[in-house]
Amino acid sequence: MIDTHAHLYDEIFMVDHASVMNEIQSAGIKEVWLPNCDLETWTALAYLSDLYPNFCKPMIGLHPTYVKEDFESQLARLHEILVEKPVLAIGEIGLDYYWDISYVDQQKKAFERQCHWALDSHLWIDVHCRKAYADLIKILKKPEFKNVIGIIHCFSGDAAEAKHLVDLGFLLGIGGVITYKNTNLFESFREIPLESIVLETDAPYLTPVPHRGKPNSPAYIPLIAQKLADLYEVSSAQLVNQTTINALKLKEYSNFQ
Ligand SMILES: [Zn+2]
Repeated sequence: MIDTHAHLYDEIFMVDHASVMNEIQSAGIKEVWLPNCDLETWTALAYLSDLYPNFCKPMIGLHPTYVKEDFESQLARLHEILVEKPVLAIGEIGLDYYWDISYVDQQKKAFERQCHWALDSHLWIDVHCRKAYADLIKILKKPEFKNVIGIIHCFSGDAAEAKHLVDLGFLLGIGGVITYKNTNLFESFREIPLESIVLETDAPYLTPVPHRGKPNSPAYIPLIAQKLADLYEVSSAQLVNQTTINALKLKEYSNFQ
């Protein structure tokens, strides 16, 4: 199993990262893909992925909720790093109108700029989108971005948006939310074939049932896999096999080892 989205460089994991890695590997997880937030998080992210190169795979990007007045200088520095350092993907990038709408224009600008980075470096993008699906789809439908592919991490749109994004070449990242008792998330992607689904935790956030209240961990990926297998009515081996194939295709696209 691959956790396609976890903030393993978060302080809570860094205190004793060696035993954290052991615990995750014991749960059957082969790789964890690390989405970046801004220049500050990059330091810990790069440190961790250099320390565990076969297990932790780095992405680079500016997260939409970190787009502030200084976004141009953040982007300039992150791009310098991208030119020097091989990464798996550009992420996490996108639009977030949930927390703060005072930087919407800057968020759009930063997102489009980073989509161009992905095209220029033949990388895929890991997309964060909250309360902004209409604008996200509008941007991704622009002819200049027709070759942009990737993952819509922690997908939370409706059925029409799910179909639209999959038609545009995106996979949907599904995590702990699917295990919550009062979620109707599955209704929005039940028509999406398993070939377009990948597993993720977004650790340390969005802890699945029955561990809610504790920090999330990639070690909980099997709980998400089992829940999805039940919903799709396939065996968990089938579910794991297909979602891993899907993730590995993206990795191949980036040509990242
Ligand atoms: Zn995230």
